[in-house]
Amino acid sequence: MSLLTVGSVAFDALETPFGKTDKIIGGSATYITLSASYFTQENNLVAVVGDDFPQTMIDNLNQHGVRTEGLQVRVGEKTFFWSGKYHNDMNTRDTVEVQLNVMEGFDPIIPESYQDCQYLMLGNTAPAIQQTVIERLKNRPKLIVLDTMNLWIEIANSDLMSLLKLVDVLVLNDEEARQLTHEYSVVKAAAKIRTMGPKTVIIKKGEHGALLFSEGQIFFAPALPLESVFDPTGAGDTFAGGFIGHLAKTDDISFENMKRAVIYGSAMASFCVEKFGTERIMNLTQHEIQTRVNEFVTLSAFGL
Ligand code: AMP
Repeated sequence: MSLLTVGSVAFDALETPFGKTDKIIGGSATYITLSASYFTQENNLVAVVGDDFPQTMIDNLNQHGVRTEGLQVRVGEKTFFWSGKYHNDMNTRDTVEVQLNVMEGFDPIIPESYQDCQYLMLGNTAPAIQQTVIERLKNRPKLIVLDTMNLWIEIANSDLMSLLKLVDVLVLNDEEARQLTHEYSVVKAAAKIRTMGPKTVIIKKGEHGALLFSEGQIFFAPALPLESVFDPTGAGDTFAGGFIGHLAKTDDISFENMKRAVIYGSAMASFCVEKFGTERIMNLTQHEIQTRVNEFVTLSAFGL
């Protein structure tokens, strides 16, 4: 089934305890579409970049089967830039700098050929842009998944609240869930979010895994204990790409299948953190993915 992703395509500059990068390719939609490309053939991107964005990277996305007809290249303008620095625990980070550039005034145009999408992934960007994408689709997709971040909970709360009413699944981390609901318990936070719109909530807890909440049901997926985490940037987006990619591939949105999707998402995220930026998820094989998913199965399997 076809997947449509909207979000940022960016330049990132990163600093972790293991090293530093100058401008490398990042952005929520970049990680999501690359990750989803290992699952679904129909992978459509809506985003905006400036003419400083390398054509080789667009070619790379295309080689992964990502359709870029909806990627606007704005001549004479610069690509969105984000820079972040991780603390020693690698779980928390500070945004050092943001240059909105082309993201300011981004008008997400949906090519006609994307209109029949069944799965919609609203990757991290302003809630008003995410909502415009929903409004511009002639038919409501079968499943709408939303990712957001602390910034939007802070500065665009009313836009976010109106958007939440329109989506099926919200993916966020535990800190964001607390910030959105003012509930410390993630169980209470998920229940409160479910009254705001999304019937399914995924709360990510970084190296402590992820929880999937739906009507009367909870599922917990561990994160793979890795010897070294090099760079967590994009892990959340890569998780979301694996999650929705698996759902789009199997075209089954039951809770049972969402459990598998959470494991696929977690497996993809575990690759992402092994190298800086998109390097690792750019070059994966199906065999590597399946082997890693099997490690997840083994990790928490036990007999009674
Ligand atoms: P994650 O580590 O999964 O939260 O995602 C990191 C990615 O989000 C980076 O590649 C950034 O370019 C992108 N990003 C950071 N801030 C924003 C923002 N305000 N809007 C859109 N994308 C952002």
